[in-house]
Amino acid sequence: MSATSYPIVDLKSQYQRLEQRIQARVSAVLESGQYLFGPEVRELESRLAAYTGAHHVVACANGSDALQIVMMAEGIGPGDAVFVPAMTFLATAEMVVTLGATPVFVDIDLATYNMSPDHLAERIEDVEKAGTLRPKAVIPVDLFGLPADYAAIHALAEKHGLFVLADAAQSFGGSANGRTVGAMAPASTTSFYPSKPLACYGDGGAIFTDSAELAEKYRCLANHGQNGHTAVAIGMNSRLDTIQAAILLCKLDVFDEEMTVRRAVAERYRERLHNVVTTPDVPDGSTSAWALYSVMTENRDDVIKTLNDNGVGARIYYPLPLHLQPAYAQYGAGEGSLPAAERMSRTVMSLPIHGYLEERDVDRICDAVGKVVGQ
Ligand SMILES: *Cc1c(COP(=O)(O)O)cnc(C)c1O
Repeated sequence: MSATSYPIVDLKSQYQRLEQRIQARVSAVLESGQYLFGPEVRELESRLAAYTGAHHVVACANGSDALQIVMMAEGIGPGDAVFVPAMTFLATAEMVVTLGATPVFVDIDLATYNMSPDHLAERIEDVEKAGTLRPKAVIPVDLFGLPADYAAIHALAEKHGLFVLADAAQSFGGSANGRTVGAMAPASTTSFYPSKPLACYGDGGAIFTDSAELAEKYRCLANHGQNGHTAVAIGMNSRLDTIQAAILLCKLDVFDEEMTVRRAVAERYRERLHNVVTTPDVPDGSTSAWALYSVMTENRDDVIKTLNDNGVGARIYYPLPLHLQPAYAQYGAGEGSLPAAERMSRTVMSLPIHGYLEERDVDRICDAVGKVVGQ
């Protein structure tokens, strides 16, 4: 294995496959002169709506803005508690703080890595009892591509009057109980950051909703709060470039084929590794988009070092839960307060997974893992 044999996500192989199509579509945009608000953006929005079953899709500049826009539309701000899982990318909590609201960290379920509904129930009660914050919203995250437990979370949200915002930045293409990601919550957001399952060549994001009224608000907020040329709200500048939309349209054409490969890779990892390390559970009725294949093992650091030395791009997502990140510690209760998230952060590691990995590659990676863990 050479230095770069097995990148965690293989964007180069994908580009080689799509080069001609992407160059043709990007050239068409360059020639059109419509670099923002070009027809490709609307075409992408309607293809994403058709793909997910969400009635409305609003493209925007990135997945972080998408979260912020949805929360702005709900009027989330100072005094509001927003429940977020402790193991997620920073942006989930960052946008809550940006709006002046307070993130409340919820522990995870170690079998799925997603927010624990039981712990969510406890945290909501804690906030209600303390009486200083209004429980306002919950942001389940579909970590590594697997949809969160929306049935349980929706039930709690309904009981306590919380808005459910699905952070589906990693899970475009996943599904649960007959619903596709994008159509599992009143609002869902995704990211087209280059390493996400559906990705562009820079930054991009989208918001999914069934509500025409919310979609109109999101579109307005993403364009400086304008309705026509009248400012009806304080918004932001968050647009998806036409070039990125054109690239995403090309990638969407092969997305299902790539997803089939990702699923086969995940299945092979499970077969080969379930007795070696802790492999993730996919609940019955759910499918993961397999943004990452993440396992837990006590000698994680040795495994990563060996894999990296052998050209396998294994990495840690995430080395620290949010409540132990210096910038977010003030919102948490410190070490020991969220034991599952802490345990996960000490033992989790992600292995290469993408639409261009072959079974023999997976087997080589598994052999290398087995050599370290088997010792
Ligand atoms: C990537 C990611 C985001 C942010 O998306 P950007 O497009 O990078 O702003 C938000 N939440 C989660 C869970 C993510 O993985």
